[in-house]
Amino acid sequence: MKTKYSLISACIFAGFAHADDAPQNIIYMIGDGMGPAFTTAYRYYQDNPETKEIEPTVYDSILMGMAKTYPDDDTFVTDSAASATALSSGIKSYNGAIAVDSEKKPVKTMLEMAKAQGMTTGLVATSQINHATPASFAAHNESRRNYDDIADDYLDNKINGQLPVDLLLGGGVRYFEREDRKLTEEFERQGYQYITDFDALPSLQTLPALGLFADKAFPFALDENPNRLEVMTNKALSLLQRTDNGFFVMIEGSQIDWCGHANDIACAMAEMDDFAKSIALAKAYVDAHPDTLLVVTADHSTGGLTIGADGQYRWNTDVIKGVRQTAWPLAMSLAKATDIKQAWSESVDWALSDEQYQQLKDAKQSEEPAKALYREVKDVINKQSYTGWTTKGHTAVDVQVFAYGKSAQAFAGSQNNTDIANKMIEFIR
Ligand code: MG
Ligand code: ZN
Repeated sequence: MKTKYSLISACIFAGFAHADDAPQNIIYMIGDGMGPAFTTAYRYYQDNPETKEIEPTVYDSILMGMAKTYPDDDTFVTDSAASATALSSGIKSYNGAIAVDSEKKPVKTMLEMAKAQGMTTGLVATSQINHATPASFAAHNESRRNYDDIADDYLDNKINGQLPVDLLLGGGVRYFEREDRKLTEEFERQGYQYITDFDALPSLQTLPALGLFADKAFPFALDENPNRLEVMTNKALSLLQRTDNGFFVMIEGSQIDWCGHANDIACAMAEMDDFAKSIALAKAYVDAHPDTLLVVTADHSTGGLTIGADGQYRWNTDVIKGVRQTAWPLAMSLAKATDIKQAWSESVDWALSDEQYQQLKDAKQSEEPAKALYREVKDVINKQSYTGWTTKGHTAVDVQVFAYGKSAQAFAGSQNNTDIANKMIEFIR
């Protein structure tokens, strides 16, 4: 016993994960664009105003460390492809790279290693399933824009003669049912159950399976199905838990980033809520299956979100909670409406001030009313809530690392995004 104990200690001391520390199952969740300001904002957003306490979120309950996100160049600011490549393979690359290194050579991903080990594998996203983040786990391409080639890889990138991913849930029908290649038929010939109706998700009872529920991405959570990721996460975990040799699944909150790019705070909070509920499910899964490791992180932050703006010492969550549509459909309905105030009140629970009404009226009378309204609607909501943004792109701030379950402590402290991957790879190999 003593020998064994000191051997394990030596391994930990040397920074190597001992086989005994390796979890049976790994749930890897990536909030695209989810910098620290997003998790903080979400805490205030979901606070119960009836209580004095600011209730902690699921993010607070599993916070473990921080990660650096810079790509393999001198810009410091990563895109989702380079970052996902770092998070999937432990190798930093250039912006746009899908699991290839700076020389455009394919790099092994943890999903591929898991599959090679006989584990069951899954990818779940609210973007198209061949979008940069999921793509970097099971495809290899010099450019994230080569959507068709990436989709092809989900069939052609064989691991020991098998398809790389046993369960794919997300959007992207148009990339899988093409003129030049009907991937969905090939999947079916390989024994995959294929569905496109989201309401048919309960009918998926066995693996392998492919569910594509949108032509490209899902609509925003705020506009249509507020818990589509939660529903897919639930299904994915129930399918994967029946496997004998353990599983690896990557589940992405894909659209937090898109709301950040749009500087649309109501959009972002709805995405954060869907992702938070999905994490809560994964956490409950770990509680029921303690041999499972849950790791949650972000690939970068987006938009330069600031909680409190314009020199004001406040952030109005009621304003944000009162917005029931994302900015584009809201702007479109205002553009079509004869009565701006009436149309506004159909999507927003608080009334426009005279000044805000004039601002939107001016936008509506401009040369490109829809575009102008899209911009001004967000300006009104951001100013009214004191939400600040500094960019329509990404920022290089460190992101949080959350971990729970078996060997979660390995992710404590400051680390590189590649370290997150390498620690997990150590568990898989
Ligand atoms: Mg993404
Ligand atoms: Zn982005």
